[in-house]
Amino acid sequence: MSPATRTKTKTEPVASRSAVEGVARPSGSIAVIGGGQLGRMFIQAAQRMGYQAGVLSATAETPAAQVANWTIVGAPDDLPSLRALADRAEAITVEFENLSAPALRWLARRRIVRPGWRTLWVSQNRLREKTFLARHGIPHAPWRPVRSDDELDAAVRELGLPLILKTSASGYDGKGQELVENADDAASAWRRLNRAACVAESWVEFAAEISVVVVRDREGRVAAFPPALNRHENHILSTTMSPAPVGPIVTREASDAAFAVAQALDAVGVICIEFFLTASGRLLVNEIAPRPHNSGHLTIEAGHSSQFEQQVRAVCGLPLGRCDLVSPGAMANLLGDLWTDGEPRWAEALRADPGVKLHLYGKHTPKPGRKMGHLTVIDPDPQAALARVLAARRALSRR
Ligand code: AMP
Repeated sequence: MSPATRTKTKTEPVASRSAVEGVARPSGSIAVIGGGQLGRMFIQAAQRMGYQAGVLSATAETPAAQVANWTIVGAPDDLPSLRALADRAEAITVEFENLSAPALRWLARRRIVRPGWRTLWVSQNRLREKTFLARHGIPHAPWRPVRSDDELDAAVRELGLPLILKTSASGYDGKGQELVENADDAASAWRRLNRAACVAESWVEFAAEISVVVVRDREGRVAAFPPALNRHENHILSTTMSPAPVGPIVTREASDAAFAVAQALDAVGVICIEFFLTASGRLLVNEIAPRPHNSGHLTIEAGHSSQFEQQVRAVCGLPLGRCDLVSPGAMANLLGDLWTDGEPRWAEALRADPGVKLHLYGKHTPKPGRKMGHLTVIDPDPQAALARVLAARRALSRR
């Protein structure tokens, strides 16, 4: 190694030309942090646009690493891994929100990193997320912080019952949540959550759950996919249908709220906002995910540009694609439970409806509740799309 090279590798930070310009052009090298299915579909969209797409992944066998052009095996906030990532990628994004802010800040001094650490900082912690929503006047369910016995008592007194206790950090798919129906149960429910910092949230008698995937570019332009109607089972998304049959006013209010969230977060990239829709037509923000979302997967077939293509465009500083749909559509998740009695009956389900599209994420070990893949159907009638995708999922089952 020449002395000049040695000096160069020791000098830091070195922002690349693309980082200074804010644009990573197609055929360049970009990457995602996180090896799950969201990373996999981001990589596939990036590859279609000509990028060399890599991943920072826990192992070389993850869904994303299986399809990536290159993989760095390591933890998401391990400095040598981040250094290796910065050496190879001009632009970097994430597929999950629980990434350390210092790690992202470190990367952002060298390469394009979108969304930025502030966006993740807010959305990775329910207390910060609720505080953010309150500060910006974005409607959400009544809540109180719970970090002490006194705060727990106050939450029960002020919110009333039932309420849900949700751990502030690292909860997803209903994990880290306890329903409290009687005041006497509040203390034991909080103990089951290891008395971790929580938000207590009023129980919402919602008529429906909808979500909006919004994309924001580096100049602050925003576009939103039509709202999707979601149905959860055991707190895990089961089906999505889009457009949601909610009428033009709720559609407009939902996308306006989604735009407000994206602007207030100053986020560049794709964000999903999940809402409760009450019987009286009120929209309450439930959660913010600073990344593509399971309820947006149907945009791969139903969208002009999928949520993953929009993520690539926003992260790379390219103009955004269209967010309107080519066709209504529906998606059904395939959870590990489907494998309980053996391999699902792929041929039967696909033969029964040749319009069904199968996505499997390459996960080797099916477990109950684990997202293994999904099915999509597009149909001019969204209700028909939902009925068809449900029929296909039933046909997969051996029960
Ligand atoms: P979350 O992890 O907060 O998105 O919660 C997962 C699911 O639990 C939601 O999609 C709802 O179906 C249900 N849920 C969460 N919070 C509430 C609430 N405050 N009222 C009623 N249902 C809720």
